[in-house]
Amino acid sequence: MKEIIDRLARDGDAADEELRALINESTEEARQALFARARAVRDQHYGRQAFIRGLIEFTNYCKNNCLYCGIRRDNRQAQRYRMTKEEILACCRAGYELGFRTFVLQGGEDPFFTDARMVEIVAAIRARYPDCAITLSLGERSRESYQRLFDAGANRYLLRHETADADHYARLHPSQMVWAQRVRCLEDLKAIGYQTGAGFMVGSPFQDTDCLVKDLRFLQALRPQMVGIGPFIPHHDTPFAAHPAGSAERTLVCLAIVRLMLPRVLLPATTALSTVEADGRIKGMDAGCNVIMPNLSPRDLRGKYLLYDNKAAVGLEAAESVEAIRRSLEAAGYEIAWGRGDYLNGKKG
Ligand code: SAM
Repeated sequence: MKEIIDRLARDGDAADEELRALINESTEEARQALFARARAVRDQHYGRQAFIRGLIEFTNYCKNNCLYCGIRRDNRQAQRYRMTKEEILACCRAGYELGFRTFVLQGGEDPFFTDARMVEIVAAIRARYPDCAITLSLGERSRESYQRLFDAGANRYLLRHETADADHYARLHPSQMVWAQRVRCLEDLKAIGYQTGAGFMVGSPFQDTDCLVKDLRFLQALRPQMVGIGPFIPHHDTPFAAHPAGSAERTLVCLAIVRLMLPRVLLPATTALSTVEADGRIKGMDAGCNVIMPNLSPRDLRGKYLLYDNKAAVGLEAAESVEAIRRSLEAAGYEIAWGRGDYLNGKKG
């Protein structure tokens, strides 16, 4: 195992069977060796910094019907909400005062937020906070739409590929959603100049080790500036309610491998990881992560953006707890990086 980890750290690459062995590694000792290398590579490029982003979940309406997701269209139990432009700006103002310099606007694919409406929101944030980065996570849109939002002032876009195996993708999504379209979106985003984030869930139903190897190969080829990886967690009102959650250990192993494959990647320790694992954020940082995204959404709405059961949105996941977040990171030897936290050598602006 040591040779595989050494080679991965040196070349950013390993053979498929070696990746399979790492993903399935069951000894804690080998996992810790992998995490130590991932930390060292992260430290070399970014130091022991946690780049902090304020997450604003501004709508949970969604026209899609992803089988795993709690805000899927057919979940009649979901209490739907959408924030107004003024409410979104109020979140940004609160976040700015707390020290945040990146705002992440995430939502379901809500047709209410047409290009005109989104451009107005992005332009208003850009005008008020010229020193901040604006990250969007709005799902699949046309290239023209992505371009308009970029021109209005958005800098980054998160769109997980979910799985790099087209057949597996088809088992997680309704037939209207196709893998090729997801990839087209990611390529458009990169070509336009967004710092682009892809990513996947660990332990999603029907996923096998080969799927994960394909995910890693896909990321190697795409070279996104950001990668979001978290465990799948079932939601009780979805077709996947009875499927087990993905494992925290395997998620940490995938994060560490991605750090070694893409040394400068911006890699969040996700809320889903914190939901399945006590101290998940610190464990993520210790496996090579360098981004945290506490929740800046209004408190009364947080309980409604339920992608999965028991989603953490309070305590150390809440943006207003920055002081407690700072202390918990500091106790583990990390410090919050309060700047925009752009990708190193990536496009600015
Ligand atoms: N609509 C946008 C999109 O499709 O990218 C952004 C919102 S979407 C809900 C954000 C991410 O949540 C998805 O990319 C997916 O990986 C994750 N997610 C959804 N349901 C989940 C679940 N049950 N467990 C873990 N992650 C989940």
